[in-house]
Amino acid sequence: MSQTTDNHEYYLSQIHQLKQLQKVDDQIYEVKKVLEFAPSEFKELQDNFTKVEMQRNHINDKISHLRDQESRINREMEEEKARLKKSKNKLMATGSEKEFHAVSREIDNIEKLSQPREDERIAVLDELKTQLEQLSGIEEQYIDLKTQVEARKATMESQIKEAEAKLAELSVQREACSKDIPLPIFQRYEFIRVRLEHPVIVPLAEGICPSCHIAVPPQTFNELLRGEHILSCPNCQRLIVWRDDYLADDPEAQKALAEEQERLRAAEAAEAEREPEPEEEFEAEEEAEEEAEAEDGPRLGAE
Ligand SMILES: [Zn+2]
Repeated sequence: MSQTTDNHEYYLSQIHQLKQLQKVDDQIYEVKKVLEFAPSEFKELQDNFTKVEMQRNHINDKISHLRDQESRINREMEEEKARLKKSKNKLMATGSEKEFHAVSREIDNIEKLSQPREDERIAVLDELKTQLEQLSGIEEQYIDLKTQVEARKATMESQIKEAEAKLAELSVQREACSKDIPLPIFQRYEFIRVRLEHPVIVPLAEGICPSCHIAVPPQTFNELLRGEHILSCPNCQRLIVWRDDYLADDPEAQKALAEEQERLRAAEAAEAEREPEPEEEFEAEEEAEEEAEAEDGPRLGAE
């Protein structure tokens, strides 16, 4: 069997090296995601804050303008009151009828101005009330976002620092992992890594590529089962490896897989027992055939 040949052993050692490299690349991939997403996430938050801050500034500008108007009106009203008082005193002291009429007209004029001024004052106070209500409505949101921005900024900065340190460490690990991989294989790995979405090397449990979900041609699949050369998916170009070879360096994963398969078999058996079919005998025969096939293993089936 090919399993025992030097070729197969060499093949498995290459798979092992590629998997080690991919493990490092998995981590690099995650770290880069942090480096890529943290700033854009922060920017989104900050943009939200800026928008609310601008609204708030706009309302505050209006309020300050209205307050200016209010004090101008108050000042004018005070001045009118003083003028009116002065005129009324003058009226008391008038000596002639002509002078009396002149002062009366003056008083009339002052009083005529006071009504529109009072109306203006009411309008300004009304608008001021509206704007103050709007301000208090936005204030809570403003403070909340401001707190979030400050907190996020601090965590993001430490997150980025941490990610950059991790990335430097991983690139040293990557160097160490890749130095034993034969150059042509490493170059193929790199070719895929920079062009395709993660990951580069994928295990096949059946004749279908798990990344692009396209069936691998039977001839390629048979070659894959022989396990002597690193093959590529004819469609997506990722490096494909038969699942058992992929797990050859990982006894724990092999054990977990065997347990999972056993669990499925037991569940199927329990299901069959619960609902006996009329054609039970025929089905049992079929199952026995399937089991015999499974025991032979796919590697034999490939030859
Ligand atoms: Zn594929």
